[in-house]
Amino acid sequence: MTLINPDFAEEIERFGQNTALECFNCGTCAAICPLIYDHFPRKMIRYIQIGAKDRILENAQELWRCLHCGLCTQTCPREADPGEVILGLKRYVVANWRRS
Ligand code: SF4
Ligand code: SF4
Repeated sequence: MTLINPDFAEEIERFGQNTALECFNCGTCAAICPLIYDHFPRKMIRYIQIGAKDRILENAQELWRCLHCGLCTQTCPREADPGEVILGLKRYVVANWRRS
């Protein structure tokens, strides 16, 4: 079961700039991402918006497939900076592993 946590976006701010709330879910980043599968990175950004931290941790291995090519950030019409958000999520996942 996914727990909804509206405060999660604030929680991850200390791991990097969090612009996920700017995203309006258009899908442009998922369409241009060379990893195009299963709506990456859009779905990760959506998980932040609804505070689904368990989904992020369960799918954490996907974050390390990101090439940091920056294409998603360049094409996002909302300046939600999805590439940078993915980097912040990596830091968040590593911090959680260290605590566990
Ligand atoms: S391109 Fe930007 S606004 Fe569109 S889904 Fe991706 S992050 Fe959200
Ligand atoms: S930076 Fe990562 S998420 Fe963004 S388009 Fe490149 S591979 Fe995909």
